[in-house]
This record gives sequence, structure tokens and C-alpha cells, in this order.
Amino acid sequence: MKGRKLLMIPGPIEFEPAVLSMMSKPTTSHVAPDFIDSFGNCIEMMRNVWQSPSGQPFIVGGTGTFAMDMAGSNLIEPGDNALVISSGFFGDRYAALLKRYGANVDFLQPQLGSVVTTEEIETALKQKKYKLMTFTHVDTSTSVKINPQPIAELGKKYDVLTILDGVCSVAGENIQQDAWGIDVVLTASQKAVGVPPGLALLVASPKAMAAYNSRKTPVGNYYADWGNWLPIMQAYEARKPSYFGTPPVNLVFALEVSLKIILKEEIEKRFKRHQHIADSFRAAMKALKLEIIPANDTIAANTLTAVYLPTNVAPTDFIPAVSAAGVIIAGGLLKDSKPYFRVGHMGSVNATDILGTIAAIETALKKCNYSFTANAGLAAAQNVLLG
Ligand code: PMP
Repeated sequence: MKGRKLLMIPGPIEFEPAVLSMMSKPTTSHVAPDFIDSFGNCIEMMRNVWQSPSGQPFIVGGTGTFAMDMAGSNLIEPGDNALVISSGFFGDRYAALLKRYGANVDFLQPQLGSVVTTEEIETALKQKKYKLMTFTHVDTSTSVKINPQPIAELGKKYDVLTILDGVCSVAGENIQQDAWGIDVVLTASQKAVGVPPGLALLVASPKAMAAYNSRKTPVGNYYADWGNWLPIMQAYEARKPSYFGTPPVNLVFALEVSLKIILKEEIEKRFKRHQHIADSFRAAMKALKLEIIPANDTIAANTLTAVYLPTNVAPTDFIPAVSAAGVIIAGGLLKDSKPYFRVGHMGSVNATDILGTIAAIETALKKCNYSFTANAGLAAAQNVLLG
């Protein structure tokens, strides 16, 4: 008995021991020279992970929702038009959030399991002048992935700011912020970035910062206001002390360790590893005759997979049975969908983790009297992993 289960939910994820050990380091002053240096290193490394040499990183205590809030509140003024391109639960959240800051929100929503098409987005952009549009790279409620590149192209064509909710994708899925021209790419620490929950992270383009600078009204959220945080980011990067709100010192030290691990692996190789593990998991589900929510593999995320349960298997039996077999997975987030479960496979996930998870799923399916060929999922996954 290891005394712990394997955590395979779509965040928080399993963290590297080196990252966790930074969390137990004695907390130092937020103006101590070693902390200032660590913060400065994080800012510099974020530009590499986001592939945004021209961007302005922000590292602030908060969750992914706060990163969404920071981008939304700094870029929206009352009466601005915003287009929310949804692929599930988190698109709804962005619409509600932007309305809170006075935006007129139009909402594009695909059928469950699909994405809004580039053509549909262009049609909307032709009809109205928008200040910004948001899109969710990987919607964690559905495991549907959208291709951000053509949407960013449309943003440039129609002069609309683009905000990518990358909470379930940054450091797991390919994102090239500068090359693709996305104005804000945001995430939270607890997912593929690989740090315990508590940090809101985003990188803003020069165009986003210019839009902020030409605001006519004050930002409707005091804590989120870039005017408060930009001098802090600039000071830390210049290796100088500063203060607006006390930063989560240990989380920032842990972020430095994790970003170093990510860059050491090399970002391209990291994306490929995520893809390989996701391919193996999808192959296993197919072999077990379980259907995934994304309509096809080109829009299936590499960071998590949402899988429908067989009709006679209840999530309330299945998920505890997977847990009894040693693996923690998540239930569905969408209330009006057929029952489904979600498995996160991001961050430092490896072949052994995914095989262990598939074995636990097979054990639970057997307990729930689902009929399948024993080891079919494991064999299919192993074939991909060995291939
Ligand atoms: N957007 C997406 C795509 C997410 O997956 C999540 C969290 N699951 C959020 C936003 C919100 O992040 P948080 O829970 O850290 O506030």
C-alpha cells in the first residue's frame, strides 16, 4: 500500500516531487533577493512556454476563473460588444463574467461534442463590430478542443482582440501565442503547468496592453486591474522589490521549478507526449466500446478525455469502483448530458499512469457488470504506446 491513490482528474493533477518539495520550503519575504529572482525567472520562462517573446506575463494569486476575470475586466468597458465562442461549461462562465463588466455578449454554441466552425465565427464578425472574442482551447466539461489558430487569424482580420481560455491546455497542447497572434492566453497553475492550485497566469500581447491603456473608464475590478499589477511584474523582472498584494511565495517558487521542468523536456516534445498518451487512452476506450464526447479525434483534447458510460452503468457505482481500484477520476460536469466520466492526462503523466488508469477502469466496468473482453483496453493502449 502506497497510502495514496493515483490522481487522474483534469486538475489538480499529480505534481512532480521537486515541485511539491518547494511548497514545504520555509516561506520567505516577498522582497527577499532569492524570491525576487525566482519571480523574475518565472516571468521570463512563461514567455518561452507560451511562445510569446513579445507578451507581458502576469502571475497573480487566484484560480483560472480569476485569470478569466483579469483578462475580461481589463479589456471590457461598459457597452463593448463581446463574442463568446463556447464549447461547454466554461464558455457559459465567460459570457456571465463579461456581462458583469457591462459587455453586450453574443454567444456561439456548438452541438455537444462539436466545435463552432470558423465560418460561423466569420459570419458573426461580419455582422457586428466586436471589441473582443473569447474561446476555450480545451473545454474541460467535454474534452472538446478547438483550433485557436484560424480564430486568431479572424481576430486580426476583423481587428477584434482574442482571449484564449487555455486553463486546460497551456503546457499540454500546442499554443504559439505570438506566431498565431492571440492577445491573451490564460491558465491556472493546477493543470498542465504542474503546480498546486492558487496561481492565475496569463500573457497579454502588446495590442491587449494598448487596449488597456486606451480605456476611458476605470477597470471594474480593483484586485484584477493591470494598472496595479504591471509595475509589480516589471519590478520583479528587473529584479527589484515591489508590492501590491502579497504574492503566494511558495507557489511562485514551485512555479519556477515546474517551468524549468517543462522547458527542459522541450515544449514540442511535451506536446507530443501528451498526444501519444491521449491517443493510447482513446484507443483503449474504443476497444472497450465506450464512446467519447468529442465527435472525432481531430477535436479531441490531449489533456483529458470525457467518456460516456454504458447505459446500464451509473456514475455513482462506477467512479467509486475506479477509486477502490486505486485511481481517482472525475464525473461529468454537464447536468443535461448522458452520464459520463472524465480522465485527466496532463502534466507529468506517463505511460504507467495511463495503463494503471485503464486497468482500474476495466476493474470497475467488470464490477458494474459491463460485458467486454478482459484486457481489451489495456492491449489497445499498449499497442499505441509501443508503436
Ligand atoms: N476554464 C477551463 C477550461 C477550466 O477547465 C477551468 C477549471 N476546470 C476554468 C476555466 C476555471 O478554473 P478554476 O477552477 O481554477 O477557477
